[in-house]
Amino acid sequence: MADYVIPAPEQAAIPTKNGGAFPVRRVYCIGRNYAAHAVEMGHDPTREAPFFFQKNPDNLDASGQFPYPSRSADVHHEVELLVALKSGGADIRVEDALGHVWGYAVALDMTRRDLQGEAKKVGRPWEIGKAFEHSAPVGPLVPIAVTGPMAEGQVALTVNDALRQTGDLNQMIWKVPEMIAYLSMYFELQAGDVILSGTPAGVGPVQRGDVMQATIAGLDALTVKVV
Ligand code: MN
Repeated sequence: MADYVIPAPEQAAIPTKNGGAFPVRRVYCIGRNYAAHAVEMGHDPTREAPFFFQKNPDNLDASGQFPYPSRSADVHHEVELLVALKSGGADIRVEDALGHVWGYAVALDMTRRDLQGEAKKVGRPWEIGKAFEHSAPVGPLVPIAVTGPMAEGQVALTVNDALRQTGDLNQMIWKVPEMIAYLSMYFELQAGDVILSGTPAGVGPVQRGDVMQATIAGLDALTVKVV
């Protein structure tokens, strides 16, 4: 036991469907991983290597509520498949990558789009747009033994029952095993790392009082109220 000089922060964790919690070490997020979303954000989807940013483990929030963040007037929803790793390593081969997956969940990459936009314009990091408190609502993790590899299946998000985002996991530019392999060339992945795998087209703003429902075929729906 370390001789900490202040009380140790609580271990970030997300619930699993059949009880027990999954402790989270790092949160990697891939950008522009669906062509139609890359196009709606003004980018050419055909010429880009994958790129990643990070959220903080304690940004994950399974409460079903999303407190509208400070200092933004344009907060967007992004529905994403969350991939949770039970093991890791460096230079993982694509064909071995799924062997490191513990399970999957539905998650939201909530984004202060106005602040992200300002950061992009001047070449600054994205943290204030992406890595703020409660910025990653998440549903229960389901083991890969139950879900299978999840290479395809509908992804959708409604706001107040109106369809906003729709796509299919098979439209990812970089597939889950490729993402794991690519990340592991730059970072040593470990058990407890999770990856948000990008969002399909249709991102847009939410307001206080809105109810978002995010669905991915084969997983439990995630319902989140903006408060
Ligand atoms: Mn995203």
